[in-house]
Amino acid sequence: MKLANAEGRAVLVVDGGTVDIETASGAQLPSDPQALYARWDELVAFAERRPSPDAPLDVRRLEAPVPRPRQVFAIGMNYAAHAAEAGVEPPEFPPTFTKFPTCLTGPDAAVVLPSGFVDWEVELVVVVGHLAYEVPEGRGWAHVAGVTVGQDLSERLVQLRPPAPQFSLGKSFPGFGPIGPWVVTPDELEHRDDLAIGCAVNGEEVQKSRTADLIFGVDALVHHLSSITPLLPGDLIFTGTPSGVGGTRTPPRFLAPGDELTSTIEGIGTIHTHLIAKEHTA
Ligand code: ZN
Repeated sequence: MKLANAEGRAVLVVDGGTVDIETASGAQLPSDPQALYARWDELVAFAERRPSPDAPLDVRRLEAPVPRPRQVFAIGMNYAAHAAEAGVEPPEFPPTFTKFPTCLTGPDAAVVLPSGFVDWEVELVVVVGHLAYEVPEGRGWAHVAGVTVGQDLSERLVQLRPPAPQFSLGKSFPGFGPIGPWVVTPDELEHRDDLAIGCAVNGEEVQKSRTADLIFGVDALVHHLSSITPLLPGDLIFTGTPSGVGGTRTPPRFLAPGDELTSTIEGIGTIHTHLIAKEHTA
C-alpha cells in the first residue's frame, strides 16, 4: 500500500490514480492522513478490498504524508562512512535528537534558506504504526506502518554552535523536514533492509549508499528508542544520513538559492526540494 496526502486528504496511490479514503470507505475512515495511523489495521483491511481510483495522480498536489506526528526522532552518525567524514567513532547507542514537527513539509516543497550554511542529508524515514514500547530486538518492523523518503536539512552553524551543539534547533527551521512522496508499507519492498538511497544537487550526485549500511537498522532503532520512550502511531524516525554531506567537504559546500535537491530511495520514490532566498518571502 502507498498512502499519500493530496491537499490535506488521505489517498491511496494505486495503479493509474488515487483513491480518496474517506469517500471510498463511506466515511468509515477519516480524511485526515495523520488520524489514519491510529486506525492502521482498519486502513490495511480497506486497502485489501482494492478500491478503484477516483482521480489521476498529480504529484504536485501532494503534501507531507505524515503531517502532524506527535514525536519526530532523528538519528545521527548511523552510517560508518558518515561518522568517519564527521570525525567521530561509530556509536554504541543511536545518537538521538528531535526535529520539531513544524519543520515538516511536502515532497515538492520550496524551502527558505535562513543562512548560507544549510546542508543536505537524505534519509530513510520510518513511520510508526502500532504503539511501540520496550520492543524486543528483532521485532521492530512489526511496529512500523511504512517508510518514506526524507531530507534532514541542517543549518550547521546553529547545529554546532558552542558551547553545546543544538542539533534539534539547527535541523528544525521551517521546511527543514521534507518527506514523501508517500508512505510505502514494508510488504511492498522485496529487501526492506537493503534499499539504494541517494541525493543529487542540481542533478549532480552527492550521496549514494544502501540502507544495509545503517549501523542501527529499523529493527534496532525501534528496539533502542522504545527501550526508553513509547513510540506512538504516526511518529517519525529519521534514520540518519549516509556520507557525502556538504559541510565536511574541503572546502565546505552549502546550499544556495536556486538549488534543487533530488532525494531518492529504491522502492519508495523521489522527492524534490527547491531552495530559495530569504527575501523572496517578504
Ligand atoms: Zn540527519
